[in-house]
Amino acid sequence: MSYVGIPPWLNEMCNSIYFSTCIMHQDAKKNDLDHFCIDCRRSLCSNCLSAHMHHNYVKIRRYVYNDVINRQDLCNLFNCSGIQSYHTNGAKVLFLKPRTHQHHQQQKLSNLKERRCTICNRTLQNNSLYCSVACKVSLVYNFFWQIYIYIYLHVKRRKLRRKAAPLRAPMF
Ligand SMILES: [Zn+2]
Ligand SMILES: [Zn+2]
Ligand SMILES: [Zn+2]
Repeated sequence: MSYVGIPPWLNEMCNSIYFSTCIMHQDAKKNDLDHFCIDCRRSLCSNCLSAHMHHNYVKIRRYVYNDVINRQDLCNLFNCSGIQSYHTNGAKVLFLKPRTHQHHQQQKLSNLKERRCTICNRTLQNNSLYCSVACKVSLVYNFFWQIYIYIYLHVKRRKLRRKAAPLRAPMF
């Protein structure tokens, strides 16, 4: 189901649009897109759910104008360690994407103990590493992208060297 530790649907879950009107159920009640189907990799409204009842889907919530997921729901599917969680209505939630509204405007750099997200540099409240699911996902992708670049350059250099060799031959 997963490769390099990141399930393939996770990136799409973070980047899907939620809480807009479902185009399939424009005239129905409760037509906000507030679920994500892991099997179909798309957001769903409550009216869509009956067609996906045998699929794996998760509920997406709203917290201070941002899309969040119940921490426990995601932990069953992905290692959530290091992602900052927030308490709301008795549950722990995780931001899907970095917050759009940064509440404390550019605090002074005096507080050296202040923790910041490894990826986007947003301030964190505790000793977490990432502000959101998307930041943890992008770290893993960046890591493998760098390995890919390294291998690509390394192989290219070897090929160039091999090509360069015959040029010298007539000199001897
Ligand atoms: Zn589905
Ligand atoms: Zn729908
Ligand atoms: Zn971040």
